Amino acid sequence: MSNKKTAMVGTPCQILAATKINRYEEKTGGSPIDVKIGLFCMENFSYQYLKRYLKSRDIELFEVKEFRIEKGQFVAYLIDGNVFRIPIAETEPFTRKNCHICTDYTSDVSDISVGSVGSPKYHSTVIVRSQKGKQIIDACIAEGYIEAEAISRKGQDLLEKIANQKISKNTRIYKKREAIGRPVLSKRQISEEEFYDECGKCQFDNLQNDVISVGSCVLCGACEYVCPIDAVQINNRKPVSVKECEEDCHACYFACPRTFISDAIYPEGIDEQPLGEYLEIYSVKADSIMGQDGGVVSAILVYLLENNIVDEVSVVGEDKDAPWRPESYLTSKIQDVIKAAGTKYSTTTIGFKALTNKK
Ligand SMILES: Cc1cc2nc3c(=O)[nH]c(=O)nc-3n(C[C@H](O)[C@H](O)[C@H](O)COP(=O)(O)OP(=O)(O)OC[C@H]3O[C@@H](n4cnc5c(N)ncnc54)[C@H](O)[C@@H]3O)c2cc1C
Ligand code: SF4
Ligand code: SF4
Ligand code: SF4
Repeated sequence: MSNKKTAMVGTPCQILAATKINRYEEKTGGSPIDVKIGLFCMENFSYQYLKRYLKSRDIELFEVKEFRIEKGQFVAYLIDGNVFRIPIAETEPFTRKNCHICTDYTSDVSDISVGSVGSPKYHSTVIVRSQKGKQIIDACIAEGYIEAEAISRKGQDLLEKIANQKISKNTRIYKKREAIGRPVLSKRQISEEEFYDECGKCQFDNLQNDVISVGSCVLCGACEYVCPIDAVQINNRKPVSVKECEEDCHACYFACPRTFISDAIYPEGIDEQPLGEYLEIYSVKADSIMGQDGGVVSAILVYLLENNIVDEVSVVGEDKDAPWRPESYLTSKIQDVIKAAGTKYSTTTIGFKALTNKK
């Protein structure tokens, strides 16, 4: 494992995987992830299906300048000035079905969570959750990397309302799945002791049965990253086993964000707290960076690198051969961070891919 300290930016499911990998280090081998910056996330889209859907509406991905979620609509701003909009409810053909069982909207187990909802245009909403996150945000404000003010009451009410909508809609869906025998292990209440007991019996075959074949995999790549013998590969958008498991290894099952989550990570009643546990919430902008919203995620990463708080950051840029296809990589260069600003609304094997490539 690389001993370089890393800051990771990711969706709530990716941040959860990072949390599990580090918490159960003795089983997973741990990771260099030292700072976790979570993004708000209602759902994510399949790259292939998004591409196919837009093509059916006579739009090629290379014609798109920017994607945004605005006022309940999925919006594609085209390079020629035209704008394509559809209500979020109509994105179903390209929404990843595994997102329908996810109830974490604001990345509850990050150090710092960032999204657009709750703040004015060109600002990001920042939820500070840990003491480490607080030190980083306080320093970013003091040193002029970002400008922050407390979120408005109206903004916070809206944020809570949207987070609650995700929780109630997806709770109905996962309960239905459980009722028809499709397990949603990540939503079962389980103690730390039971967690060790259950995961300690499981290997890749169980991951296959409990997560992958029931449509719960988020494609984070954590299983591929933690496997000590490279027995997992993500092929054709699915993790597959390419060799026999090592005796007594359970690393992938411990790390996966869609196996059990103990109450030491998600305390009982977490879904009654729409924004999770937090210290402070701000509306923030970073004047120096053109980001998706306030450019705040990129400004925090620049601060972390310039002040040697981490050695590398993991960001999601675009595949040079396929427009808008997300590609994750590790970098210590400020210009790479600035280039990677902006949201790529789809999933491929991002998340842990960059760390796996560096193993
Ligand atoms: C799939 C997805 C769904 C989202 N849904 C919501 C939502 O419902 N409500 C909401 O308020 N906000 C949502 N966001 C967050 C929002 O789009 C912005 O990313 C956030 O407000 C930060 O903006 P910024 O200008 O501060 O970040 P920027 O400075 O623009 O930086 C964005 C960072 O995000 C990283 N990134 C880009 N694409 C991905 C990706 N696919 N996976 C992981 N990291 C990525 C980049 O590496 C970059 O470091 C979503 C983000 C993603 C990736
Ligand atoms: S499972 Fe889907 S909705 Fe949940 S955090 Fe991951 S990408 Fe977002
Ligand atoms: S050896 Fe098997 S159980 Fe261990 S991490 Fe690899 S795939 Fe999973
Ligand atoms: S099976 Fe692997 S890629 Fe899928 S969610 Fe679990 S750890 Fe992530």
